[in-house]
Amino acid sequence: MSVDILVKGGVLPDGTRADIAITGDRIAAVEPGITAEAGEVIDATAKLVSVPFVDPHFHLDSTLSYGLPRINASGTLLEGIRLWGELKPMLTVEAVVERALKYCRIAAGKGLLAIRSHVDVCDDRLVGVEALLEVRETVKPWLDLQLVAFPQDGWFRDPSAVHNVVRALDMGVDVIGGIPHFERTMAEGAASVRAICELAAERGLMVDLHCDESDDPMSRHIETLAAETVRCGLQGRVAGSHLTSMHSMDNYYVAKLLPLIAEAQVAAIPNPLINITLQGRMDSYPKRRGMTRVPELLAAGVRVGFGQDCVMDPWYALGTGDMLDVAHMGLHVAQMTSPDAMRQCYELVTTGPAAIMGLSDYGLRPGALASLVVLDAADPIEAIRRRPERLAVISKGRVVARTRPAETNLSLPRA
Ligand SMILES: [Zn+2]
Repeated sequence: MSVDILVKGGVLPDGTRADIAITGDRIAAVEPGITAEAGEVIDATAKLVSVPFVDPHFHLDSTLSYGLPRINASGTLLEGIRLWGELKPMLTVEAVVERALKYCRIAAGKGLLAIRSHVDVCDDRLVGVEALLEVRETVKPWLDLQLVAFPQDGWFRDPSAVHNVVRALDMGVDVIGGIPHFERTMAEGAASVRAICELAAERGLMVDLHCDESDDPMSRHIETLAAETVRCGLQGRVAGSHLTSMHSMDNYYVAKLLPLIAEAQVAAIPNPLINITLQGRMDSYPKRRGMTRVPELLAAGVRVGFGQDCVMDPWYALGTGDMLDVAHMGLHVAQMTSPDAMRQCYELVTTGPAAIMGLSDYGLRPGALASLVVLDAADPIEAIRRRPERLAVISKGRVVARTRPAETNLSLPRA
C-alpha cells in the first residue's frame, strides 16, 4: 500500500497510540504500526494528534475591526452594539473580505478548521453577507465556514430585518439567527422565536439564536426555543447561543428547563471569554460570572460547544483565534477541574461543536476527511494547560501550516 501522508507515532485524544494514513482528502487508516510507503511522513511520536478545532460561534464580519471608528470605552455589550451600528454604514465588501480572510488564515495556523459565523443582515446593502459568501468560497479548500443570517438589531425591532434575513438565505446563507432578548418586549421576543422556527421548518434549515444573552433571570426565551423546536419538528437542528440568563435563574425553574432543552435536542453554545467579560456588569459585589450552566447541561444530555464569539472587534479587544484559549477560560469559569471534566472541555472545542454544526465527515476514522492537528503536547489536558504550538495542521489531505516550537535558553545558575 502507498499513501500520500503518514502521521507516525501520535497519541489520539482518547489516549490510544496510532499512525494515521491519508490518501487524497480522506483518512485511509488509523492503526498502530502502519508500514505503507508515503509521499510525506510526519513524525508525531508521543505528540497529541487531534481532530481539528471547531468554533461554533463567531462574527467574521466584525473581526479585526478593533478601534474602528473608535474604541468601546465602557467595554459593555450595549456600547459594543452601538459602536457596531456606527461602523456598519462605513463597511465595504473589500474591507470585510480582507479582514475575514486574514482571520481565517490565523485560525488555520491554530488548527481551527471549521467556523460558524453570524453575519449581520440589518444593513440594507447586505455588505457582510456578500463579503462572507465570497470568503466561504475562497477558504472552502481548507476551512469549513457556515454562515448564520443574524438580525443584530432585532427581528421585529428593525423594520427591514425579516426581509433581509430572507434575502440573505436566498443568497446562500446556511442558518437562521435571531436575538429574542433584544426585541422590545418579552412577548415580541417569543414571537420572533416562533417565526424563526417556522421559517427554518419551511426551508429545511438550522437555527442558531443569540438567546438570553442577559443577566435577567426572567429572560426565558430558551424555554420558547425548546418548545418551538419540538412543535416545528426541528429536533437536533437548533442551537441557543450564550444562554447567560440561565446563570442567574432560580434553581427550581432550571430543574424544569434542562429536561425540556434535552428533549428538544437543542444545543447550547456558551462563549466563555465574552460571557465572563460582558455579563455581571451591573452587579456590585459579589459579581456573577454570567456563563450558562455547562456541567449541568452536559449532565442533562444536552449537546454543548464552546464558541469564541469575538476577536478584536467592538465587543472584545483581545482574542487570538486559538480555541484552546476558549477551552482554558471555559474550564475555569465552569470549574470543570476534574480530569474527566478537563478532557470534556477539550471535546467542547472539537467534537461537541462539530456535531452541532453537522460536520458529518469529521473525525479520526477511515473514510473521514483528512483534517487533523499535531500539537506539541502529550494529551488534551496538557494542551489546554499550555496552549502549545500546532506542529502541523492538515486540512482535507493537505498540510496547510507548520509551526516550530519556541525555544527558551536560560542563562541561570543550576538549581
Ligand atoms: Zn455572538
